[in-house]
Amino acid sequence: MHITATHINYFRICKRKLWLFSNGINMEQTSDTVYDGKLLQDTSYPQRNEKHTELPVTFTYSGLKLYGIIDFYDARKKVIHETKRSNKIEQAHIWQVKFYLWLLKLNGVEDVTAIIEYPVLRETSEVTLTDMDILELEKVLSGIRKVLESDQCPPVIHSKICKSCSYYELCYVAEESE
Ligand code: SF4
Repeated sequence: MHITATHINYFRICKRKLWLFSNGINMEQTSDTVYDGKLLQDTSYPQRNEKHTELPVTFTYSGLKLYGIIDFYDARKKVIHETKRSNKIEQAHIWQVKFYLWLLKLNGVEDVTAIIEYPVLRETSEVTLTDMDILELEKVLSGIRKVLESDQCPPVIHSKICKSCSYYELCYVAEESE
């Protein structure tokens, strides 16, 4: 299995969500989200269409296969561009690009920075990778490994974020019938 930025995001918000997703119970409209980001980039930055844009990056780290697809990488300026519609889940976007920056570093590409672009909001956010971020990513990966290796689905977290989670019904219906 490939570990992607989605796994990192899910680990940070809910271990149960990560476990369900990793065990093939997928209720997110991931493909639509990815398509929306691509469409937004193509319409907001049409000059990028002519260039080779998406860059897949992989690395096997402690037996885990890490995988990311960078929206647009400017190799000359060493800048990753990631396009998003809304900044509602900005922390997830930041850790997504930190993960990409780390993947590039693991592949020997150093001193890269990233820009998250919100063309609808006319905002941008610059992201860098620090040594502390790398420690955090290593810690997260170790936690992800533990969740993936477990046969037990982690418990419901009873958080306000559950109401907007695609697993809400599954989690709370299952709990009510216990
Ligand atoms: S509904 Fe809550 S407990 Fe269930 S997966 Fe989503 S965030 Fe986790």
